[in-house]
Amino acid sequence: MQFIELLQSDMTAALVVFGLLGLCVGSFLNVAIHRMPLMMIYSWRQECSEFMSQQADMPQEHTVPLTDIVAADTPITLSRPASRCPHCAHKIKWYENIPLVSWLVLRGRCSDCKANIGLRYPVVELVTALLSILVIYQFGVSAAGLSALVLVWTLVALTGIDFDTQLLPDRLTFPLAGLGLAVNSQSWFVSPTQSIWGLLFGFLSLWIVVKVFFLITKKHGMGQGDFKLLAVLGAWLGPMMLPLIILLSSLLGSIVGIILMKKQGESKPFAFGPYIAIAGIVALLYGSDIVNWYLGMYTY
Ligand SMILES: [Zn+2]
Repeated sequence: MQFIELLQSDMTAALVVFGLLGLCVGSFLNVAIHRMPLMMIYSWRQECSEFMSQQADMPQEHTVPLTDIVAADTPITLSRPASRCPHCAHKIKWYENIPLVSWLVLRGRCSDCKANIGLRYPVVELVTALLSILVIYQFGVSAAGLSALVLVWTLVALTGIDFDTQLLPDRLTFPLAGLGLAVNSQSWFVSPTQSIWGLLFGFLSLWIVVKVFFLITKKHGMGQGDFKLLAVLGAWLGPMMLPLIILLSSLLGSIVGIILMKKQGESKPFAFGPYIAIAGIVALLYGSDIVNWYLGMYTY
């Protein structure tokens, strides 16, 4: 408790501590991004094989050792099996697993087989650290600040998972929506009433857009996960932030979508979740500033 009080009285110390904490959390999020889709596939397979003896195919692009484990019907969790090099299955030692530092010392290569360790690992760690610092700077070492950290960390994981697999796991979005209602029962971000309406409008607004889009084009533009993610943000930030989030995410999504289409010709399946998540983080941190600035342009 003394430590918390110290952090509350010293902003610089708080930013350093939460920056370092963010690096470690980012390291864990890398594991979550990689493993949660595999865990989902594993549980789908379990359900399927209970239903019929035939088993679903594993996506080939997932890295070898973990896929072997899933195929061998061993349960996979976030903590087990221990982290391994995806190329040579070399077990990663604790000193090779220090956020950022290990990647720099190993120069982004496996110590055993020298295969490239993707740049995404240190990037996720750095981004998580940076966002943690911004959250604490904005909300302080408070109940709201700490709960906002949980929101942002989960959004980082969802961004990575959706980007890789076009999936937004219910086992992340549902608890996060519940947590949004719970923290706002204490009015930490918006009133309880706003939180409930935010949840409903968040889900419905995208649902309507997709239905209209389908009526016009006969194509499914978005997945169910996207509605759920917007419902989560509505529960946390209230209905007033939804227009900003939808506007920002569509803008970001179209810009990136156009760039990708120019680059790759016909685009691969496009995940919209990451842009909703990014817009949500912007709205959490700076939403009221942006809305006030916008409304301020019309006051004389
Ligand atoms: Zn290796």
